[in-house]
Amino acid sequence: MNRNVSLNLYTINKLLIGQVTQNRRLTTESRGLRNDVRHIVIRYQEPFPYLVGQSVGILMDGTDPLTGKPHKLRLYSIASTSKGDEGDGQSVSVCVVRHFWDNPKTGETSVPGLASNYLCDLRPGDKIRMTGPVGRHFLLPEDFKKQDLIFVATGTGIAPYRGMLSEMFDQGAEGEVFLFFGVQYRDVLLYHDEFESYRRCKNFSYFTAISREDKNPFSNEVPTRGNKMYVQAKMYERRGDLIRVLKKPDSLLYLCGLKGMESGIFQMLEGLGREILPSGSFVEKLKAEQRVKVEVY
Ligand code: NAP
Repeated sequence: MNRNVSLNLYTINKLLIGQVTQNRRLTTESRGLRNDVRHIVIRYQEPFPYLVGQSVGILMDGTDPLTGKPHKLRLYSIASTSKGDEGDGQSVSVCVVRHFWDNPKTGETSVPGLASNYLCDLRPGDKIRMTGPVGRHFLLPEDFKKQDLIFVATGTGIAPYRGMLSEMFDQGAEGEVFLFFGVQYRDVLLYHDEFESYRRCKNFSYFTAISREDKNPFSNEVPTRGNKMYVQAKMYERRGDLIRVLKKPDSLLYLCGLKGMESGIFQMLEGLGREILPSGSFVEKLKAEQRVKVEVY
């Protein structure tokens, strides 16, 4: 890759100071705090050139009450195009879910996650400390215009695709582009209207997997927990398209979101791969050809 990718222009020792200009809830209020997902726009004065697919580091002020040490840096995928939502290259956006966790040591349940709650509670005007940009493996290919791309996300793992799809369709992407997006409920589909709007592009296909409303009709071929409709089952439903696209030697597959999705998707792909590759592992082949990009946590 010859393009100029900026990396770690700002670090813990040389922070970029930004100011929040927008913090809007992306999910319906009635879903409560458990499904509170925020789109946060941060403006800055210094140069911060980033590409879609990169991440930004966020450093909270103060110390972590659990360790007594300064907070650790948290990375978030960038959810805006490289021009930023404000269009002038001086802002970056992130997509954050308000996180709660159970502490097995104390038995305490629903403990608010420090960083995600800090971010979700930010207000316009608040200052924020940042580092980055980070990452060069989850980028779009330079020649994406003619390439076929399959994007798969669970939950806030959708973040990088928002900027990617916007840039791709602005610049006239001509390859087949698929987006598979898994969430718990229909009314927590993030950026849904934006993705729906790309249906005007004939080469774009958008499929949603709604785990707590729809059942998985392929429980034998693609088993899922509680027989839920997960992205891997939705992908299997579109297996004809996937096989056609993955047969092309330069097509790429992007996975972003929950760690748990990775093995389910790879198992499903191994099954499909038997129709593409007579022997050997299809997933290993895709990996060896660097055609799978994974960002899961
Ligand atoms: P979530 O709401 O907990 O889950 C999203 C969907 O994935 C739900 O429908 C869930 O179903 C389903 N799911 C659960 N286990 C699955 C599995 N094994 N295979 C396939 N689907 C599965 O997601 P979230 O809370 O937004 O978390 C998203 C993840 O993305 C986090 O781990 C985050 O660190 C990561 N991530 C975030 C960013 C970012 O910039 N914010 C970037 C990259 C990655 P059920 O809940 O009904 O089981």
